[in-house]
Amino acid sequence: MQVEEYEINGFAIDTFNQHGLETGKTQGVCPLCSHTRKPKNQKLKCASYDWERGLGTCHNCNTTFQLHTYNRKGSNEKEYVRPEMTEFLPVVDKVTEWFESRGISQKTLDDLKVGQGPEYMPQTGKKENTIQFNYVIGSQLINVKYRDGRKNFKLYKGAEKIFYNIDSIVGYDSCIITEGEMDVLALHEAGVPNAISVPNGATLSHNNLDYLDNCIDYFDDKTKIILALDSDDPGLALRAELVRRLGAETCYLVDFEGCKDANEYLMTHGKEKLKQVINKARSYPLENVTTFRDIEGEVKDFVKNGFKPGYQVGLSNFDSIFSTYTSQFITVTGIPSSGKSDFVDQMVVGYNKNYGWKTGFASPENSPNYLHA
Ligand SMILES: [Zn+2]
Repeated sequence: MQVEEYEINGFAIDTFNQHGLETGKTQGVCPLCSHTRKPKNQKLKCASYDWERGLGTCHNCNTTFQLHTYNRKGSNEKEYVRPEMTEFLPVVDKVTEWFESRGISQKTLDDLKVGQGPEYMPQTGKKENTIQFNYVIGSQLINVKYRDGRKNFKLYKGAEKIFYNIDSIVGYDSCIITEGEMDVLALHEAGVPNAISVPNGATLSHNNLDYLDNCIDYFDDKTKIILALDSDDPGLALRAELVRRLGAETCYLVDFEGCKDANEYLMTHGKEKLKQVINKARSYPLENVTTFRDIEGEVKDFVKNGFKPGYQVGLSNFDSIFSTYTSQFITVTGIPSSGKSDFVDQMVVGYNKNYGWKTGFASPENSPNYLHA
């Protein structure tokens, strides 16, 4: 197998072989689970390595992982303020417990370098103990999202907006876009590492997607972009904008079955189910394209019940031979004075009684008018 040492899909490799695996081998130990297995199983080659794509897949813990770390692809012209990585403090005690109550383990917090520490929050006007989500590209800290105990948020002032965990999608054909850092942690916890989050949630009116411009190079090689957003109105507005920017043909949708987001789904159904629901994402419905799944209900009904009668006038012997649909033109013919007009009047009354339809008459020969009223 070809060993790609410098770049993958245009992303320059920063740390080559970050887990110290056997270079060039296609099978080997798993950096995620091998060390946790029974001594006799620790040397088992449970993972396969794809050096061309820079990805590994473990068949024991059923997770994928990146073989390298990467430098940023593309550059941003603008100058931004950069937070300093030295401010990083790992999460402890109460905060760890809080994450555990949300189904997030210490391992995931370590993997994603989630920190904590005091920070001035404008919403409360004082320093609060905050959780700090570090927005990293390669070895550079680009931004920090602070969250206090009252669910107030702030981003690092003047820093560049990017997707949270954007590094994680390099090498993968697919990625999952969520609405918050907690969803990224939940997916990582469930063995879906290639998940990212928008930095500032969704809003109803205008979704300023400058973070997408700043990270657009990361989506060049993606054939499947799974939108795992909230199903409320702001979430739908963000979804529409992301679909417009990324192209409907590459977008997929997740159905969290009544749960608000990935984190709630994790807490309700567990890791395995969360991973499954992501795998079951269905393609975004293209305009004017109907797939079988879209009309499955109608087809089942037709197979079971056959053709349904259309609108009927309420005369059983007549209804058994005639019914109609809207947007139709009905001609009633017959010899003079055989009751055509009276019958049409009867139909009009029947449709009104059954469906509340209103009628406009154009009747040049039937006088007086009050007979139609
Ligand atoms: Zn493993």
